[in-house]
Amino acid sequence: MDNTNKMVLEFESKSQNESFARTVIAAFATTMDPTIEELADIKTAVSEAVTNSIIHGYADGTGMIIMRSFINGNEITIEVEDFGVGIKDINKAMEPLYTSRPELERSGMGFSFMEAFMDDLEVESVFGEGTLIRMKKCIGNQVIKGYAH
Ligand code: ATP
Ligand code: MG
Repeated sequence: MDNTNKMVLEFESKSQNESFARTVIAAFATTMDPTIEELADIKTAVSEAVTNSIIHGYADGTGMIIMRSFINGNEITIEVEDFGVGIKDINKAMEPLYTSRPELERSGMGFSFMEAFMDDLEVESVFGEGTLIRMKKCIGNQVIKGYAH
């Protein structure tokens, strides 16, 4: 089977679209036959990235978010892009427990979850222009316990 595939989705930065994006990526990734756990990891990572675009990127209003996904063999790449405020200091933003919005009771763990649940995470951001998150995950790498080759 030709296991390459692509999708693009563009939606407004409204809180109800966080679950919409999560559902769409789950449906797209399902074609790779992931485990329930792999699917949950992907959904959580997308949910963190989209939530960040909504509450940080477009803190002062509403804008468009683009989610792209590419399947290549057993690897899925997911990009979440916004055209909002951008990130001034990416290294600081990615530190566990760092949040610029403690008053919103954010815990500063979004990037840490994306890193933990995906195999690769890249953050590109231009302050004042926007942010692009690129995450990759290999599907089917899990060790089946008790199964000796
Ligand atoms: P949590 O995700 O635990 O609710 P958080 O969103 O503050 O808290 P992270 O997701 O790790 O934590 O993000 C860290 C910081 O990076 C944010 O507080 C914010 O300052 C910045 N940031 C993240 N994504 C964006 C974005 N799309 N646009 C602008 N700033 C962002
Ligand atoms: Mg976050």
